Parts: sequence; structure tokens; C-alpha cells
Amino acid sequence: AQLDTLDIVVLAALLLGTVAYFTKGTYWAVHSDPYSNSLAQGNGTAKPGKSRNIVEKLEQSDKNCVVFYGSQTGTAEDYASRLAKEGHSRFGLNTMVADLEEYDFDNLDQFPEDKLAVFVLATYGEGEPTDNAVEFYEFLSGDDVTFSEGTSAAEKPLSNLKYVAFGLGNNTYEHYNSMVRNVDKFLTKFGARRLGAAGEGDDGAGTMEEDFLAWKEPMWAEVCEKMGLEEREAVYEPVFEITEKADMDAEEDEVYLGEPNKNHLEGSQKGPFNANNPFIAPIAESKELFTAKDRNCLHMEIDVSGSNLSYTTGDHIAIWPTNPGKEVDRFLSILGIASKRHTVIAVKGLDPTAKVPFPSPTTYDAAIRYHMEICAPVSRQFVSTLAPFAPSEEVKAEMVKIGGDKDYFHEKVIDRNLNLAQLLEILSNGEPWSKVPFSLVIEGLVKIQPRYYSISSSSLVQKDKISITAVVESIAKPNSPHVLKGVTTNYLLALKQKQHGDPEPDPHGLNYALTGPRNKYDGVHVPIHVRHSNFKLPSDPTKPIIMVGPGTGVAPFRAFVQERAALARAGQPVGKTVLFFGCRRKEEDFLYENEWQTYEKDLGENFILHVAFSRDGPKKVYVQHKIEEYAEELDKLLQQKAYFYVCGDAANMAREVNALLAQIISKQRGVPESKAEEIVKAMRASNQYQEDVW
Ligand code: FAD
Repeated sequence: AQLDTLDIVVLAALLLGTVAYFTKGTYWAVHSDPYSNSLAQGNGTAKPGKSRNIVEKLEQSDKNCVVFYGSQTGTAEDYASRLAKEGHSRFGLNTMVADLEEYDFDNLDQFPEDKLAVFVLATYGEGEPTDNAVEFYEFLSGDDVTFSEGTSAAEKPLSNLKYVAFGLGNNTYEHYNSMVRNVDKFLTKFGARRLGAAGEGDDGAGTMEEDFLAWKEPMWAEVCEKMGLEEREAVYEPVFEITEKADMDAEEDEVYLGEPNKNHLEGSQKGPFNANNPFIAPIAESKELFTAKDRNCLHMEIDVSGSNLSYTTGDHIAIWPTNPGKEVDRFLSILGIASKRHTVIAVKGLDPTAKVPFPSPTTYDAAIRYHMEICAPVSRQFVSTLAPFAPSEEVKAEMVKIGGDKDYFHEKVIDRNLNLAQLLEILSNGEPWSKVPFSLVIEGLVKIQPRYYSISSSSLVQKDKISITAVVESIAKPNSPHVLKGVTTNYLLALKQKQHGDPEPDPHGLNYALTGPRNKYDGVHVPIHVRHSNFKLPSDPTKPIIMVGPGTGVAPFRAFVQERAALARAGQPVGKTVLFFGCRRKEEDFLYENEWQTYEKDLGENFILHVAFSRDGPKKVYVQHKIEEYAEELDKLLQQKAYFYVCGDAANMAREVNALLAQIISKQRGVPESKAEEIVKAMRASNQYQEDVW
């Protein structure tokens, strides 16, 4: 998906701004503020019934700049927070951050001339708005847009509106940054005046953060000029007030020790379960799928019976991770707060528009372990923001250099896969950074993000048990003292070890708190929710399907084949079911090798499996090669309106398969490549070609 990249939901839903950060990644997620509806109290989250009138809201809260975000995974939200914060600290704007979903836009024609609107917009999927921007986009793109004064587009109703725009996209997708491009076009059409260029960040090229940093300086210069602002010396002003509660004990009932919301705090988990309210699900079974010594791939069966959660084949499940104890300890130590990790803290926004990204009161330990993305890549902007709080002048100078020099930053941080605490520890030689305000930590880190997995079971076959197929992330870099360990997949690995009776389930000394807050995850449980997707089998099972899923990309196809095999077993006619799978070696990582044989018994010659092994022979064979080899049959099936599915690696494989398909069609049907490309596009538009990629 063309998404807002990487990652993680921002921390904060908001904040008056933030220094935060971020960078890479590619997971999608559900729109996201797990707390925006939460029942947690005292954290300043959105209240029902509040005004949807942004003009009024600005007036009432004495703001002259609103930064709207359309965010799917939190990156756009993070960037919005950063812009708001910077607009205030450097240029004296009175800024607020706003979720597009929470406002109406028909009164934009009354937006005061001396105020500024900023739009930070991620493009999602095939050029779509993010979930929280759908209404906004529908309004602006409507055939007959009317604003509150009844003026039509031709009358330039938005001529008072000054705006700034930045988009987050991925150039590997056809509709690159279409959200920001289209919104910019509509606003201009209605007479609004843009300040600065409409920026475009590219997650596909991995340059999102740098694109953002390069765009914003000239943008600010123009904003200053057009709005008569002057840059001032930026002084850090905290967004949150953190009060240590000496009179409270962490064990008291009202203290959040990692519970996601009030329901959970009160001990009874109650549905409906969704992106704001996870179900603590038992893991019914778990097993290792690889036979390689140094690589792991987990198959898990997650039991959702009694939760009222339902899924259909092709959906995604979200797993809510817990940070590894080893990194939580490092983080607390380097901030110099390890000794008071269990001190109760109350966190409050100092401005009414600032929302605290986790429920309060809580403890330092719980906030860091359960709510902040502490292991993620470091943002260069955040390095600069932290520099003044370094423990010594020398360390400060190095931070300034790293924050200010893109190449040096790459060499010292990105190329070594360091997380924030690892970087701070290396730079200060372990000396604690006691001057860093905890508010700044909350502002600068993104809120922890659930990770999505393509469900690898069929809802028809096992409606109450959701299977996942997850490869455990572990990346060593030659010039780094640390091995990067995926947060969620290693957490799941530890749970699997526990389930299999390992007395000390602890892969690589990561030391996860497996029993959860107040032991509520005891046994083998994990917090989850389900996300529905459009990646679906044809409703008519006699239609042929072709699936391309190397590695864990095979996950949803195990579900598809399982479903079709069950139908066949029940006596229903089922169409050709062709799967292209790829892995390194037959003996090592051939996922579900034995199961395919069982499905073959049910489906007979209607099931065809083509496997590419990249390291078994003298020549590397990938799924692309296998597709080419069977081009003729494949095209025949496509002409019979076979559905074509691709799952797995978005950056390379999915793109290559797309290009390859056009080549095959061109060759097989004797049409020019441009015509074949149009055919592929039309297949996508009609859902005959579907992708589930990350
Ligand atoms: P994380 O800790 O999130 O790290 C992930 C990656 O981020 C690392 O490998 C690295 O590249 C980068 N990274 C993290 N920290 C740093 C750092 N400090 N410095 C530099 N780089 C860093 N995965 C599956 O295995 N099976 C599936 O079926 C599956 N389905 C998916 C479906 C969807 C719709 C999506 C969006 C993703 C899917 N994924 C799937 C991927 C999955 O969601 C996770 O991204 C993956 O499991 C890694 O999660 P993690 O928490 O273990 O790793």
C-alpha cells in the first residue's frame, strides 16, 4: 500500500506538535489512535459531542494555525505534530493538530485570512485517502461542492484560505501521492492559496524523512514572508505535564500498568473488540515452520471464540506488541529513571488541544513498555531536538553534527540500525541523559503500533481460530554492536517457547513481560484485533485463481487453498487453483510442504503448485522465473477470467510480477506492451488483480 509508511502511529495523537520522528517501514495499519475512543480517563482524548467546526475551535482555543492529518499508520500524524510544534517554537504560531475525521469542511470558506491551515496527507492503497480522510476527500472531490455561504466553485469561495500541503506516498504505486496532489488541485480550484510547494515524501525510495526535512525549510520561509512572521530562537516548551505521584502505589486499582483502556483496567474485557480495544486472545497452538537453525517462522492458531470477533478469508489480524524488557531497561537507564520505573505518574496535556497518547495515571515502566515505539529507527530531526539535553558539551556537539548532516546520520545511525536508547548509550558512553524532559520523550517517540498479519486460515474451515504465519525478524549489521530484533515477532517467538514448556522463554535475552500487565495475559495470550480487507476469493468457486506468494506471502494463500479444498471435499465444483511459491531451500523453509499434499488430495488436478527454490541449485530460481516458465498456461487462465493475486514483498517482488504479467500478456496475445499494460491496469481496476503486500 502506498502508505504513510512506516510505521507507527504517532505518538500522540497529537500533541501540539512534536519533535518526533521516524522513518521507514511499510506496514499498514488501521487508522489509528487506539485511544481516541478509549475509555481511559484523564488523558484529554476526544470527547463525544464536541464541535466539528474548525473555525470556531481555532477561535475558542486562541489558535491561528491548524495542522490536519490524514494518517493510516501514524507517520502523517507524526509529521503533523512536528510541524505544529515547530511552527510554534520557531515562528510563534499558535498551532493545534487535528484529525481530519473530527471536523467538517463546508465552512472552509469562513476560514480567517490571518490563519493558516496545514494538510499532511498520506495516500493509501491504490491512491485512496486514509480511513480518517475519506469524508474530507469525498467532500472536496464531490461533483457539486457547496460551502456554507452557498458559493459555487467558480466563485472561488476559498480565496481567504492560506494553506500548506505535504503528502506521504510510495512511488512504487501507480497513484503516487495522489491524495496530496488532488487535494491541492481542489483547494486551488476553489481559490485557496498555497504557501510553499506541495511537498511529496516517498516511502518507496526510503527518503520520506529526508523529503520532509528538505521541503519544510523553504515552506517556512514563504509562510513567514506571507504571514509577516519572524523566526525566533526556539526554546523547548513541554507539551505534557508529568506529575510524579509520591502518594500513590503502582499496585493501586486506578493505575494503568499497560492496560489499553479502562475496560481492561477494571479487569473485565468487554467487546466490541477493535482497533481501540484489543481482545486478549489465547494462543491455542504454535509451531515452528522452518527447519533452519538460525531462522524462525511461526505458525500460530489464535483462538477468538467467545469474543464476537469474526473474520473472512483474506482478512488481517493485528497483534499488539509489548516491547522487550532488555530494551525497556536500556531506555529507562539511559534516561536515568530506572530507579523510579514503578513511580506513578500522571500525564496531562498542557494545552487543551494536546492529547496524551496513553492512559494515565501510569508508571514510567508501563508507558515505555506498552505504549512507545522505543525500538524503531531514530529520526534525524529528533536527534537535533535532543542535542541541547545531552549530558556533556562534547556529546551535544556530536548530536548536533548527526542531526545536521544527512550522510553522517546515515553512517552513525541508520546504517547501524540503532534505536534511540542504543544511540544515546553509545554517544554518552553509558552516562545517563538525565536532562531530557520526559514530556519530550513522549513527544518525540511514536505511539506503539499494532502489527498486521495476513490471516493464513479459512474462515469457512475454522471460524474461531485465526492462523498466522510470521517470520521472526533478526537483522545483524556488520558495523553495529546490536542485532535488530523485530519487536512483535520475537515477542511471539517467546510466547511459542513458553507454550512448548520452555522454563525460561527468552529468545536472545530479550526478556519480554509475557504475562502482561497485572498478569492479565498469563497462560499464553496476546492482544489482538481483526482488520477486514478487500483481498478476497471470487464468490464463485469455479472461477480459476492464480496466486503468487513467495515466503510469508503464502500466508493468505494457505487460507485460500484450505478453503477451496474444503469446498471440494464437500462436493462443490472448484476451479483451477494455481499457486506460485518461492523459498530458499526445500529442506529449510518450504512452508506447509505437507499440507499442500493434503489439499491436493481434495482438489485433484485442479490444484497446481509451482515452487521456486532460490538456493538449492546452481542457479537462483524465483517465483518470477516460474511464472515465466508457465506463461502460456497462465495467460490461458487469465483469458478465462482467472483472478490473479500477489502477496508479500511490496518493494521488489510485487512490482516485478506486475511488470512481468504485462510482458507475458503482450507476448502471448501478440499485443504491444503498452496495450498489455492497459490490460493489467484494467484487471486491477476490476479486482481481477489483487495485492496484499507490505
Ligand atoms: P519491527 O520491530 O516492527 O521491525 C520491522 C522492520 O523495521 C525491521 O525489519 C527493520 O527493517 C525496520 N526497523 C525496525 N527498527 C529499526 C531500527 N532501529 N533501525 C532500522 N530499521 C529498523 N509479516 C509476516 O511475517 N507474515 C504475514 O503474513 C504478514 N502480513 C502482513 C500483512 C500486512 C497487511 C502488513 C502491513 C504487514 C504484514 N506483515 C507480515 C509484516 C508484519 O506486520 C510486521 O511488519 C513484521 O512481522 C515485523 O514486525 P516486528 O514487530 O517483529 O518488527
